[in-house]
Amino acid sequence: MRFIDLGAQQKRIRKAIENRIHAVLDHGQYIMGPEIAMLEKKLAEYVGVAHGVGCSSGTDALLLALMACGVGSGDAVITSPFTFTATAEAIMLAGAIPVFTDIDSLTFNMDPAALERVIRAATEWDASLHPLPAGDYAKPPRLKAVMPVDLFGIPADYDRINALAADGGLVVIEDAAQSFGGEYKARKACALAEIACTSFFPAKPLGAYGDGGMIFTGDGRLAARMRSLLVHGQGRDKYENLEIGLNGRLDTLQAAVLLAKFEIFPEERIMRERVAGQYSFFLDHDSSGVRVPKVPADCCSAWAQYSVLARDASHRALLQENLGKAGVPTAIYYPRPLHLQPAFSSLGYREGDFPVSEACSRRIFSLPMHPYLEPEDQERIARVILSA
Ligand SMILES: *Cc1c(COP(=O)(O)O)cnc(C)c1O
Repeated sequence: MRFIDLGAQQKRIRKAIENRIHAVLDHGQYIMGPEIAMLEKKLAEYVGVAHGVGCSSGTDALLLALMACGVGSGDAVITSPFTFTATAEAIMLAGAIPVFTDIDSLTFNMDPAALERVIRAATEWDASLHPLPAGDYAKPPRLKAVMPVDLFGIPADYDRINALAADGGLVVIEDAAQSFGGEYKARKACALAEIACTSFFPAKPLGAYGDGGMIFTGDGRLAARMRSLLVHGQGRDKYENLEIGLNGRLDTLQAAVLLAKFEIFPEERIMRERVAGQYSFFLDHDSSGVRVPKVPADCCSAWAQYSVLARDASHRALLQENLGKAGVPTAIYYPRPLHLQPAFSSLGYREGDFPVSEACSRRIFSLPMHPYLEPEDQERIARVILSA
């Protein structure tokens, strides 16, 4: 059994993928070929936003979004400590300081009540109101943006987040790397904030056969600036450089693969929904010993992951061991919250600063999740969990 079975998907659409790749081999425009604009148009239409800007990865999408918003040295950006390292890494790469705030224990997403406190604390730079980076700053960092994460595919609570950010004059950048295809109050993920960033890493809900990402925004000026930034801050032509940017282009071959994969994406989203529903049917009761994902009533998850909470760390270890013996791969997203990672030690956070994130990191683990998982395999997985 595979944790994510990309082979089953490829079997279904191998011919379509080959045709798309052959078209690129025939026209030879490996850099900025026509497939990129085609994909941008299709995906922007799907999520319901005016502009899609293809780029080299989800990480670069976040970095480009921050750069386009003018976030840099001396600025601070609020985000979640319970996420993949790239979220806060992009903030640091932009030259800014990540300010963490704890998550909601049901959705694992940014907790709006905590966000309200951290906005006040970071605006006045008063660590007595909420934990703040303890670095030695010449002057207090200026709070510029909020970067919520749609963890495991469930959108964060954008109505409340956007309202709090608007009050504080902050831009909101949605880290939708895991939520492409998800929904919040009948709107699609990637359309829930001023700018949204997704990833086409192969294991994401819409994955390429290599790295790739896309940024979505309704703001034409921001889109134009990001298009320039991702080719070295290019101006009217290649040899006019307006500002320092990066080599952040989406690869034509990856865009071609994604065009073929997107054809079946809406159907795969429904298949993932069925797989998640099947897991919950088996496991959503007190005697299962695990807490299944809770999707808010007004949301749809993109089901990047199906993550459950064990009772505690030793219960998790036992379940993972039993599943492993039964040939079922599992994974822990995330074993250590970012505020306790060496890479972010310069921020001076301590254990205990974000208790919900810390508790989840000890209890959480993810079960195999992909559209082609068979109900019989899911039943077998559930039986191993129930018998522990
Ligand atoms: C995968 C991921 C990223 C980074 O995307 P890449 O395409 O791998 O650079 C950023 N944030 C989150 C939450 C992710 O899961």
